[in-house]
Amino acid sequence: MTCISIDGKTEIYGIVGNPVDHSFSPKMQTLAFQAIGENTVYLPFPTEEKQLPRLLEAFRLIGVRGFNVTVPFKEKIVPFLDRLSREAEILGSVNTVVGTDEGWKGYSTDGSGFVRSLSEAGVSLAGKSVVLVGAGGGARSIALSLASSGVGELHILNRTLSKAEKIAGMAFKVNSGLSVSTVLEPQKRYDILINSTSVGMHDRKSPVPDSLIDVSAMVVDIIYNPPQTLLLQKAVQKGIPCNNGLDMLLYQGVEAFEIWTGKKAPVETMKTSLLDSIESLG
Ligand code: NAP
Repeated sequence: MTCISIDGKTEIYGIVGNPVDHSFSPKMQTLAFQAIGENTVYLPFPTEEKQLPRLLEAFRLIGVRGFNVTVPFKEKIVPFLDRLSREAEILGSVNTVVGTDEGWKGYSTDGSGFVRSLSEAGVSLAGKSVVLVGAGGGARSIALSLASSGVGELHILNRTLSKAEKIAGMAFKVNSGLSVSTVLEPQKRYDILINSTSVGMHDRKSPVPDSLIDVSAMVVDIIYNPPQTLLLQKAVQKGIPCNNGLDMLLYQGVEAFEIWTGKKAPVETMKTSLLDSIESLG
């Protein structure tokens, strides 16, 4: 059994969303704080959209130091914050908020967490050709972080083309030296194929045809449950190196923790906690 210490000086962080009862973050972040000797707990705060301003006021009142924001409030919370990081400003979306002397400052760590998960795995992005499938919230953060991480080509594919075009425009704005498109080129090979759609999460379907997997040197699916989607299963069968979304989930939390504390996150503690949480889902 894990023991955490709580006393009259315990500080509070948390996660705001609806629902939040399935979140792995309260356990992961509380264990992380306690692992580095911080007298802190991290709690779930489910809420309604109309209550967001009052919740922020209550956080100020009771001294909540920072929090994560999840679905469906990543964009809706922005008007109630005082400052945004450059990335959060471009995205119009935040997943991490910290209390500062100048008020609440919002960050987005999904994309930077994704890029860090690759670099921690020894994958260099410089000059790489990347196919990003999907154009939802996850894709938007990933595309922006890829654009500022030195990738050479970014191909964004999506069922709804207009959404892919919008993200392509954003990525180009961040890095005008980047080659961005919303189509694939015939006869071409790609360094990294990323699935950021929800296809494969609740069904045994692949978001792309096998022919695209065949021309990809690496496959990443940002879905982490199930740990091996049909896309990843196909990649494994073809002997293509691949990764699921667990490390993205881990490193978005690691980056949030480091923003809050200014200290190096205990990555192994956090990863073990995530793996335990996923395993307990059965
Ligand atoms: P979202 O904003 O709702 O976007 C969903 C995306 O999936 C859109 O591009 C959508 O296409 C596409 N899509 C959905 N159903 C489809 C279908 N049947 N055929 C083709 N495309 C389909 O969701 P999100 O927040 O980006 O999340 C997407 C996935 O990433 C989820 O599985 C989520 O759990 C995962 N995720 C993981 C992490 C992590 O830390 N590992 C972080 C964020 C998200 P349209 O635009 O055409 O609707």
